[in-house]
Amino acid sequence: MRGLDEPLTQLGPGALTRHDPTGPFDVDRPEATTAAGNGLTLQIVAGGPKLTPAIRQHRAFKERFPGCVLFFRMGDFYELFGEDAERVSAAIGLTLTARGGGEPMAGVPHQRLDHYLGLAVEAGFRVAVCDQVQDPKDAKGVVARAVTRVVTPGTLTEETLLPEDTSRTLGAVRAQGESFALASIDLSTGRFLVESVDRGSVHDALQRLAVGELLVGVDGDGAIPDEIGACAGAAGAATTGVPSWHFDPDEARRVLCEQFGVSRLDAFGLTDDDPMLGPAGAAVRYLRETQGAGEAAVEGLREGEFAEIPRSTLDHLLPPKRPAATQRCAVDTTSLRALEVERTIRSAETRGSLLGVFLHAGAASPRTAMGRRRVREWLCAPLGTIEAIERRQHAVRQLIDDEALDTHLGEQLDGVQDAARIAARVALGRCSPRDLVALGVSLSRCDALLTVLEGAEAFVGHHARLAEIQRTVAPLAQRVIEQCVDEPPAHLREGGLIRDGVDEALDEARTLMRDAGAWLAAYQQKASEQYDLPGLKAGFNKVFGYYLELPSGQAARAPTEFIRKQTLKNAERYITPDLKDFEDRALNAEGTAVSRERELFEELLSEAHAEVRSIIAYADVLGDLDALLCFARKARARAWVAPELSEDRVTRIVAGRHPVLDELLEGSFVPNDTGLGGDAPPLALITGPNMAGKSTYIRQVALLTLLTHTGSFVPAESAVVGLTDRIFTRVGADDALHRGQSTFMVEMTETAHILHHATERSLVILDEIGRGTSTLDGLSLAWAICESLIDPEATGSPRALFATHYHELTTIAETSPERVGNLHVEVREWTSASGDPEIVFVHRISPGRADQSYGVHVARLAGIPSGVTTRASELLTELSVEQRGVSPTPPTPRPAPSEPTLFDTPAPHPAVDALKEIKLESMTPLEAFDRLRDLHKLASND
Ligand code: ADP
Repeated sequence: MRGLDEPLTQLGPGALTRHDPTGPFDVDRPEATTAAGNGLTLQIVAGGPKLTPAIRQHRAFKERFPGCVLFFRMGDFYELFGEDAERVSAAIGLTLTARGGGEPMAGVPHQRLDHYLGLAVEAGFRVAVCDQVQDPKDAKGVVARAVTRVVTPGTLTEETLLPEDTSRTLGAVRAQGESFALASIDLSTGRFLVESVDRGSVHDALQRLAVGELLVGVDGDGAIPDEIGACAGAAGAATTGVPSWHFDPDEARRVLCEQFGVSRLDAFGLTDDDPMLGPAGAAVRYLRETQGAGEAAVEGLREGEFAEIPRSTLDHLLPPKRPAATQRCAVDTTSLRALEVERTIRSAETRGSLLGVFLHAGAASPRTAMGRRRVREWLCAPLGTIEAIERRQHAVRQLIDDEALDTHLGEQLDGVQDAARIAARVALGRCSPRDLVALGVSLSRCDALLTVLEGAEAFVGHHARLAEIQRTVAPLAQRVIEQCVDEPPAHLREGGLIRDGVDEALDEARTLMRDAGAWLAAYQQKASEQYDLPGLKAGFNKVFGYYLELPSGQAARAPTEFIRKQTLKNAERYITPDLKDFEDRALNAEGTAVSRERELFEELLSEAHAEVRSIIAYADVLGDLDALLCFARKARARAWVAPELSEDRVTRIVAGRHPVLDELLEGSFVPNDTGLGGDAPPLALITGPNMAGKSTYIRQVALLTLLTHTGSFVPAESAVVGLTDRIFTRVGADDALHRGQSTFMVEMTETAHILHHATERSLVILDEIGRGTSTLDGLSLAWAICESLIDPEATGSPRALFATHYHELTTIAETSPERVGNLHVEVREWTSASGDPEIVFVHRISPGRADQSYGVHVARLAGIPSGVTTRASELLTELSVEQRGVSPTPPTPRPAPSEPTLFDTPAPHPAVDALKEIKLESMTPLEAFDRLRDLHKLASND
């Protein structure tokens, strides 16, 4: 057998860093894998392409897992062969080599598996991980292997593969008449939801549920239906076709009953003809197949041989739950995006979004990963009942009022690890020593949390749930903490997890490892005295092991139990029965210690496994507590107030502030009031120049409404918010490109969706409707849309904010003052030292309409060259006059340099002069009409 100490160069120029699976020997043989201990092994001269037993195994797995690339464990590497190697190496940049016979291969070191898995899944591959499940020493021929898991975009659980702040779920969908039945499972936390989704809302639902992979039943050709494919694509979810019989209700019921150990599913609210059965069953089946939780796919195991297949279960999966329709204030994905709830539109980052206000808030940010995910969930799926909202408000209020409660809760949450995801890894057989210790520490906080929440009236429910959980998790936490070191290793290859003093056999093995030197010294002294051999020395050498050494001169006096082992130039070396016994124990001590540690680790893991549901419930309570604490700290830090909820169609905000801009502008943000519904008209038209603050204002109202429905306080002096069933926004059209639609088409599609779905309880935010088409088209559309929004028959007349640059629309407020109010953003005008007219934005919203657009002024502010803005001013004057029918002449051509230029105003027209004289404010509509007729006559006679 070749030792590791031998330099590879001795093997000649063909030395490789990995196995060559085409060699005449099977590389799984013990000597080959032992030699691979440092990640290197020896080339075995290729004997031409032939199917070794290992390669035969590889082929068998490829057939059993079609559609997957196979990461095939060989020694210290995971290898890819053939087409897998080519595709994956091209996508994620692995070095491609060739197996004897020319077949391409590529490999990754086993310690870096997760990293490469992440890259491969991100690149769109489904990966089957094939492990060696037998100690090569025990294998009679080829080592047994099994596909221990299949990693896909919707089934990630590894810390390294999954961002901690966001979820990634597996979805399964099936058309059901005009709607879709959708199931989603978050494998990393066990959450399982089923719901019915409208045809038009599939994309929203996929995004809301963070579906990373969508299962679709396919027949024959395996094609994914276009409609589903498009929705999944737009929501960023990969689609996976599975045989359509997986969705068969009987088959699905069987899988679900088996998974949850029940004979009927009624307790979960799933009746025999429930359309949710199919998707729910298909999703669970897929997880059982991919996570190795069902029957393992093993190859190479012979009769009487034992394989160590990691125990993977889905025990942490919670039963399917159906959200009640009335529990939510719906905010569709378009609105979440437009309002920048989770991330900014421009940079797609959390910082700068509404979520960022909470997550990047220093001491006010959530203390745990569970809390961070919970805040995100709450912001993206606000509540829909006053009772539920007020319950959260109540808890936030108590934390604000009781500083000690806030401090102590924060202290206990600090340092709590991601217990939900660790629980999932426990169930799936992927829990590391570090995970286990982190779990122990996190669970051990339960006692203190109970004390902290004792008597806190708003937290009675949390306290009761924790008390229930504590009975099962406290003993587990205690055992983990007592038995495991504080700073555990990442893996158990060299042990180091279990404390001294926990287990006798482990202690003995460790003592042997540590104290070999002392034992040897004592043995030397004892033997030298016993046999009167003063020159006797004891020692150790890697090749010959332990020995006693005598100088050649004393060799003749060696007693009979000294068995000669080695002859040196001036000395003889011996072994004795005692020393041999010690050697056996000492050399085995390390292996004994590690395997004993593994046993103890497994024992703790199976205890944790038995409590996996309690751990998930614990994580759930902690997520809530942490999110509430974050809301409270934010409210205290920024002087937010509790909004008052109302059953009426009303929004009354005094001195409201935009939650994100208010922080960014550090005190210079101008607060504004809002009044919609109640005594005020439900729809407000907001006019004012670009850059004045119209968009900011309408988004602010939407964000404060959304925040109110999460139970959070809001940045305002006071707020009354009527319960809202949906928040609709139609702002900007920057999302047009990726959907391949024209800007105007997107604008109209989104508006159509609003007009079809808005109700009396909705809030609608419209920004610059009609901008994407010609002026007259746009104005007509905007006008008709506005009329529809205030028509109770058509849309229920929701509360609405309509920001527009079409000043003409403001006349609707004159005809329907009880339904439409005009607001404008104030602008201060002044003349600069150089004589140019200038404007200053004061960002104050006031009643009434804006009298002009100030577009040219804004262009000047934006740095458009002065020649251009001056010419624009001229054209504006001329075109304005022309548009009013006063001057039929086309805009005059650009003047030559010698002609009078720039602000030389054209000769005034008598009609224009007369127009200027009119005092609009003091006229009735009828008088205005008469005056208009006179002017028209005057202009026509010209
Ligand atoms: P508009 O929609 O009218 O074109 P925006 O709402 O985009 O204008 O506002 C333009 C800029 O004005 C914002 O980026 C912000 O910096 C500033 N702004 C808007 N509203 C306020 C406010 N209430 N207080 C302070 N600055 C504001």
